[in-house]
Amino acid sequence: MNVWRRLSGPRRTLALAGAGVLVAGGLVTIPVTAAQAATQCDIAYTTNDWQGGFTANISIKNLGDPINGWTLGWTFPNSSQRVQQGWSAEFTQSGSQVTARSMSYNGSLATGASTTLGFNGAWSGSNPKPTSFTLNGVVCNGGGNPTTAPPTTAPPTTAPPTTAPPTTAPPTTAPPTTPPPGTKVDNPYAGVKGYVNPEWKAKADAEAGGSRVSNNPTAIWLDRIAAINGTPNSSSNGAFGVREHLDEALRQGAGYIQFVIYNLPGRDCSALSSNGELGPDELPRYKAEYIDPIAAIQSDAKYRNIRIINVIEIDSLPNIVTNTSGQPGGTVMCDTVKANGAYVNGVGYALAKLGAIGNVYNYIDAGHHGWLGWDSNFGPTADILKTAAVASGSTVNNVHGFITNTANYSALTEPYFKVTDNVNGQTVRQSKWIDWNFYVDELSFAQAFRTKLISVGFNSNIGMLIDTSRNGWGGSARPTGPGATTSVDTYVNGGRIDRRAHAGNWCNQAGAGLGERPRANPATGIDAYVWVKPPGESDGSSKEIPNNEGKGFDRMCDPTYGGNARNGNNPSGALPDAPISGAWFSAQFQELMRNAYPAL
Ligand code: BGC
Repeated sequence: MNVWRRLSGPRRTLALAGAGVLVAGGLVTIPVTAAQAATQCDIAYTTNDWQGGFTANISIKNLGDPINGWTLGWTFPNSSQRVQQGWSAEFTQSGSQVTARSMSYNGSLATGASTTLGFNGAWSGSNPKPTSFTLNGVVCNGGGNPTTAPPTTAPPTTAPPTTAPPTTAPPTTAPPTTPPPGTKVDNPYAGVKGYVNPEWKAKADAEAGGSRVSNNPTAIWLDRIAAINGTPNSSSNGAFGVREHLDEALRQGAGYIQFVIYNLPGRDCSALSSNGELGPDELPRYKAEYIDPIAAIQSDAKYRNIRIINVIEIDSLPNIVTNTSGQPGGTVMCDTVKANGAYVNGVGYALAKLGAIGNVYNYIDAGHHGWLGWDSNFGPTADILKTAAVASGSTVNNVHGFITNTANYSALTEPYFKVTDNVNGQTVRQSKWIDWNFYVDELSFAQAFRTKLISVGFNSNIGMLIDTSRNGWGGSARPTGPGATTSVDTYVNGGRIDRRAHAGNWCNQAGAGLGERPRANPATGIDAYVWVKPPGESDGSSKEIPNNEGKGFDRMCDPTYGGNARNGNNPSGALPDAPISGAWFSAQFQELMRNAYPAL
């Protein structure tokens, strides 16, 4: 891992309503005739309602000419009604207007063919059904032929017939909160419990006080080919392979599990502590010996009810934007993997292969604010992410979202200063710490980057993840208010909770704490706070430690190192006596617990 920087919408995701008693159900069937002469359809909209929430199932029947791609639209009658989590379509909602767009696999409807979609939603007050729908932009109004003139007669003055309320007793079981197996949900983290890796849990439980946090879901890093089947002899992983973890997830009744796909050719091109096993020209091996076998296991029907989340290739694509030679600290390895397409094509291949599986969700790594928050890095990184998403036969539909701050320490939010603040007429952006960055924390960065990614062509319902495993910055050194307004530097340095010497420092940072515990739907556009870097696992050794796991020694992990151009020649800020990357680092785990924020 290496992460640094240099110079240079939002989807509404609410927490799923808890299970409640079903109070009403109903069916509305609207025969629909859309314009363009031969487009006709029939919509059935049924709901199961409970207090505050509902599940809607919609069926579209094509009664006209064959359709290639559909967009269904409606207006909720009640302003409180919201789509929260949909399946078999891409949902967007603006005010009360909802649009559901077909997916790549269900857009084609032959004459007479039907397709179904659905969503979980929220309401308050009442949950009336929409009274009309549009199909491909044309108002569907109850079966009239749109090419004939609308009726000129006055609308009926009699009250419309009221349908009798259902007389059957409402079922007392909770409504389904998950769509049928194999259909991707909008937010795979919502409403289900995460898989707890027993191998990480055992290490955490062995620490005094560790059981306070050991029940949190953490990701499983597939950091070498052998990890697919289990690596009892490695420092970072245990005997469990992908299959064992998935079987254990079934046993736990977990709703989601998180893997990190981390083995690109020429991996970690700008640093030394996590260089992998594949040389820069070994893309064929990456595909055949790494991605294909993982896909084979993840696609086993036995696991179809588990939402399998893959975090794709930490640091890789940002590195080929910011760390090629000619840039401060750039490397020849980054030049090589940029020039030969290893990263772009490897990521594209992983996305295509894994994204084809119905219950698999891909989130690509997108650096962090202290790396990409300058315009010179922000847009070009979004562009290369898009290039990779459509490489090797992939499409943007294989990308469910992005993750920021993986294995990094950037604060989620800086409570005591904003990037727009001024001190004595000077913008805080010119402080040494911010250094003209446009972002001062991860939440604002992740939300803005999401908007940028949509603007370059990613789907409008992508969600972001933020790795909060080690960005808590609590404990006694945490400021309790803004810094002195003597200068921009006293103000920012006195008030910032991120206590690093420089935002480009990335290895085993002294003073850090556990951050927000993993949870779904924490903020607009954010699918979840996650613990992808398992707390307690080292970022790299503080000295050279011979090993046969391909782990080198990076001076950014050496506490005596005075830094380089990439961290403004600041001290590394790393803890002493760290083992190689991935290996258990007890002293760090203890400090992370002590400085947890929120506190344990
Ligand atoms: C290491 C991996 C390890 C991961 C999670 C990376 O820095 O290179 O071996 O699995 O961190 O701790």
